[in-house]
Amino acid sequence: MSDSGQSPGQGSRMLNVPSQSFPAPSSQQRVASGGRSKVPLKQGRSLMDWIRLSKSGKDLTGLKGRLIDVTEEELKKHNKKEDCWICIRGFVYNVSSYMEFHPGGEDELMRAAGSDGTDLFDQVHRWVNYESMLKECLVGRMAVKPAIPKGLLPKSQMTDISTKEGPSSPSYDWFQTDSLVTIVIYTKQKDIHLDSIIIDHQNDSFRAETIIKDYSYLIHIGLSHEVQEDFSVQVVENVGKIEIVLKKTENISWKCLGHPLEKHNSLIPKKDTGLYYRKCQLISKEDVTHDTKLFCLMLPPSTHLQVPIGQHVYLKLTITGTEIVKPYTPVFDSLLSEFKEPVLPNNKYIYFLIKIYPAGLFTPELDHLQIGDFVPVSNPEGNFKISKLQEVEDLFLLAAGTGFTPMVKILKYALINVPSLRKVKLMFFNKTEDDIIWRSQLEKLAFEDERFDVEYVLSAPTSEWKGKQGHISPALLSEFLNRSSEKSKVLLCICGPTPFTEQGIKLLHDLNFSKDEIHSFTA
Ligand code: FAD
Ligand code: NAP
Repeated sequence: MSDSGQSPGQGSRMLNVPSQSFPAPSSQQRVASGGRSKVPLKQGRSLMDWIRLSKSGKDLTGLKGRLIDVTEEELKKHNKKEDCWICIRGFVYNVSSYMEFHPGGEDELMRAAGSDGTDLFDQVHRWVNYESMLKECLVGRMAVKPAIPKGLLPKSQMTDISTKEGPSSPSYDWFQTDSLVTIVIYTKQKDIHLDSIIIDHQNDSFRAETIIKDYSYLIHIGLSHEVQEDFSVQVVENVGKIEIVLKKTENISWKCLGHPLEKHNSLIPKKDTGLYYRKCQLISKEDVTHDTKLFCLMLPPSTHLQVPIGQHVYLKLTITGTEIVKPYTPVFDSLLSEFKEPVLPNNKYIYFLIKIYPAGLFTPELDHLQIGDFVPVSNPEGNFKISKLQEVEDLFLLAAGTGFTPMVKILKYALINVPSLRKVKLMFFNKTEDDIIWRSQLEKLAFEDERFDVEYVLSAPTSEWKGKQGHISPALLSEFLNRSSEKSKVLLCICGPTPFTEQGIKLLHDLNFSKDEIHSFTA
């Protein structure tokens, strides 16, 4: 596959990589002291073990490297654990040898045994690069495609989707002066901002993806003439008009804008679009705690991308010949107001707080990157809506470990942009004091802004620790969640290891907070 990837979903786990439910149910990370559930680790079944097996030269398809055309009748026959074929986007894989490595378990994978698993796969993890992970399991193509994968619909059907379910059809136009070419996108929506549009211009391929509600409108053109690397983007918010101004390399008149490329002028549900990646350069890497670092990546000059608050992106690395993709949540370079104007010009840099797990698959590789190296970064994903913060009076943030990352932008945005805000409280769960990310910044912010307060809870403190200890519990929450007034508008955000988040949500419901008042960040 090209630059398109796949995306996360919820619930079941097919062809998953461990990070979806991190730590994986079987992970040693969960084997914590303190009586919480422990699942014995199956030795030799990590993603790295799978990569090793798949590269070992073993015949994983049973076809000795031959590729065949698979009929539907043939596919149906391979529906047992020891002989399991699955079709994804018209390609058939023999996943029998992968069964034991699948973090979601064999039963999840068996749901698609002997059939077309494309929809099931897309629901759960559109972003997992199965082509790379299952390369050695490829049996062949379907002789007749079992279904047209979503996102590759003929244009007539796309228009159908847009008129029946989606926003009213966007359109585009272009005009030129001697030196400039302006592309105008009419979204016909009012809630369009600079982070609604993602532009990538590489060689002569120009790609502008506009997120309109849960849909993606794509302009994808092979430009007829050369333009300069940099361009400007403006959004006229009250009419939902986007203007992209390109600078011609030569002052000549263009007869046409260019030729249409894949999915040009299409409006498709966002969940059905592939993820687009662009290579970003590692600019700096700073220690934040003993195991967490602040990474700064620079976008290419010909990219416009702003990651919306509460959303994450995927980073992609090739590890032992297999493309691995993991999600990370961009943060600001700092929490403090004196750094509000970043040292580096804004919008070209993306910052990440990333914990390095010495025995992990992805983060040690990330840590080994040298300044100047490139990492592919995807388009943003996530379901947090900034409108949730509108008129909020009390904002409660519950974060465990790197679950702090989505809170960074939410916290800063709320303090600066939500006039109704009276109180923001962060309850930050960590193992030890040394694990607390940006502790001095948090304390400085609490000192500077009386609306903000932070409380740490440690699960494995030293004997000197005088603060709160333990894990998320009804007692801790009921003490922490005191509203500024009985009927104040509240938003609770929670993020951390999946079992922490799940337990937290349950406790919040028990404390009578409604679904609308809670936002959980999950895979
Ligand atoms: P993994 O290989 O997943 O391993 C992590 C740990 O688990 C290691 O200690 C390893 O020894 C152990 N382990 C792995 N497999 C097994 C196994 N089979 N059995 C037992 N133990 C095992 N993280 C951040 O640091 N910053 C972020 O901003 C961030 N944002 C995220 C956003 C989202 C939406 C999600 C879902 C996750 C986010 N994460 C973030 C987590 C991140 O995606 C990775 O899961 C994390 O970096 C670990 O990756 P890894 O490959 O290095 O570790
Ligand atoms: P960690 O240091 O292992 O744990 C942080 C705290 O959470 C510790 O006090 C830990 O207690 C506690 N904890 C762990 N599991 C728990 C459970 N089942 N119940 C109650 N408390 C629990 O955390 P980390 O290594 O930084 O991991 C952060 C997690 O956040 C990762 O899983 C990552 O995928 C996730 N994350 C998700 C997003 C998102 O948007 N979805 C964003 C960023 C991070 P113990 O000492 O007892 O373990």
